[in-house]
Amino acid sequence: MIHGIGDSIYWCVILNKPVKHVVVVGGGTAGWLVATILAADYNAIQPGGLKVTLIESPDVPTIGVGEGTWPTMRDTLRKIGLSETEFLRECEGSFKQGSRFDGWLTGAPDDQYYHPFVLPNGYGDANLVPAWQQRPGTESFAEAMSFQSRLCEAGKAPKQTTTPEYAAVANYAYHLDAGKFATLLQTHGTKKLGVQHILDHVTSVNATDSGDIASLDTKNNGALEGDLFVDCTGMASMLLGKHFGVGFVDKKDVLFNDSALAVQVPYENADAPIASQTISTATGAGWIWDIGLPTRRGIGHVYSAAHMDDDTAEQKLREYILVVNANAAGLPVRKISFRPGHREKFWHRNCVAVGMAAGFLEPLEASALVLVELSANMISHEMPANRHIMDMAAQRFNERFLYRWDRIIDFLKLHYVLSKRADSDYWADNRSQETIPDRLQSLMDLWRYQPPSAQDFTQIEEVFPSASYQYILYGMGFKTAPPPTSRHRDAIDVAQQYFSENDKITAKYLAGLPSNRELIEHINRHGLPQRQDIKL
Ligand SMILES: Cc1cc2nc3c(=O)[nH]c(=O)nc-3n(C[C@H](O)[C@H](O)[C@H](O)COP(=O)(O)OP(=O)(O)OC[C@H]3O[C@@H](n4cnc5c(N)ncnc54)[C@H](O)[C@@H]3O)c2cc1C
Repeated sequence: MIHGIGDSIYWCVILNKPVKHVVVVGGGTAGWLVATILAADYNAIQPGGLKVTLIESPDVPTIGVGEGTWPTMRDTLRKIGLSETEFLRECEGSFKQGSRFDGWLTGAPDDQYYHPFVLPNGYGDANLVPAWQQRPGTESFAEAMSFQSRLCEAGKAPKQTTTPEYAAVANYAYHLDAGKFATLLQTHGTKKLGVQHILDHVTSVNATDSGDIASLDTKNNGALEGDLFVDCTGMASMLLGKHFGVGFVDKKDVLFNDSALAVQVPYENADAPIASQTISTATGAGWIWDIGLPTRRGIGHVYSAAHMDDDTAEQKLREYILVVNANAAGLPVRKISFRPGHREKFWHRNCVAVGMAAGFLEPLEASALVLVELSANMISHEMPANRHIMDMAAQRFNERFLYRWDRIIDFLKLHYVLSKRADSDYWADNRSQETIPDRLQSLMDLWRYQPPSAQDFTQIEEVFPSASYQYILYGMGFKTAPPPTSRHRDAIDVAQQYFSENDKITAKYLAGLPSNRELIEHINRHGLPQRQDIKL
């Protein structure tokens, strides 16, 4: 087709149209995190700043789960200008220092290991694995390498009452109430950051001649125009999935879980300890999550419907709950079904999907909200000045996030592949060769001769760095052969120095840190010092 001069001018105007208005569709955790991050980064509250509108349907509830986070959340909250004290008070927040895995290796009563957030002591300087493997005694990998699993065992907080907001003695994230978190982000976003909030249902999408999204029709507010549309509509994936028809990459052949039963369980006593870690307990066809908030525990059973029926899954969950709180029989349980996988791409034309709209694998290791934060940050960094360069931003975003989804799939699958449980088909199926991604299989072959290292994961901002792989592998009894020769930095005496240094730090922190509950109660009464409160 031959275009006339008029056509060329028309396309030039369209392509050079600056991106000034971002419309976020969906008011779950994903939508509000994206909206607040963009509004904070681009001064939405000031005249001339980026305009950020969030529209959410009063008719479609948010998913309402998602209570475990990554340490990245501290940077996110600080960046959008929220006080940590306010966040902890408003969202039933508590401190999370990692995960404990119960029953994943054999299912025996003493089968337990930790994946803490701190790196092994001396990590990057020396390969400590051979020295740890030669150590006499029964000290676990996490105990020998870091102080954090012992802090968790003792129910300790990751900081003192005098440690300023967002600063840490031990690296930490949060456990939080998902519903309260979205509400706090909404209040902060609209009152402090200038996010425009519309409560309305999007009924259809209007396209431009080129195929971009021009506007969204709403039930009560007419058409809503924008330059970039962020699809945070949850599993509906209304813009990217339904409107654009971007395909879904089903991962059920690798990660089998597709069902969850969730319940909120009060503590037996108001002063019961608050766990400093997410507890993940393996079952015959999945696992039970247990997240301690100040007034309740968020507990749920995630499982494969192909391997366990709903009634059995509920029975297993109720057995677990009764151990936690003998008075908690008969609590209402909510069923959530999901399809593990992700979209073929995430940014298409002038639409990018974030959160459940982009995909979801399963709750293990809380990888969903961290992906939301990483997505929002990359959209912000790559925010195209105009439509002309948007496709380049989209291509980079898609490459980066396809890599990330694949690495998360590998990492989650590792937890299942290493299990020796023989009590059900679920665990046997998880170990069968055809369900293991090729890259993971090759790396596991390599790790028989050398431990995971930064050379295996070369991107900046890897969601799970090589240290995380070490904690899972050696926590689950994986054996790496001793090296035939080793660098002088890796010698046994160097490693011993790191181990004994770790023992000393552990003793110091155990003595000096309050319990998780003590710190939370102190914050509720007095708050945490803000950075500017600290006298130098
Ligand atoms: C069982 C389970 C456990 C999980 N645990 C964790 C965890 O521990 N850690 C973690 O990081 N993540 C976890 N997740 C994932 C986490 O819950 C989600 O990533 C997070 O809540 C973000 O959800 P969302 O905002 O994408 O979607 P949703 O919360 O579903 O929000 C969708 C929004 O879209 C709106 N919407 C839909 N259609 C329309 C329309 N037509 N017009 C206007 N608005 C519309 C809805 O009103 C709603 O506001 C878990 C998920 C599941 C299923």
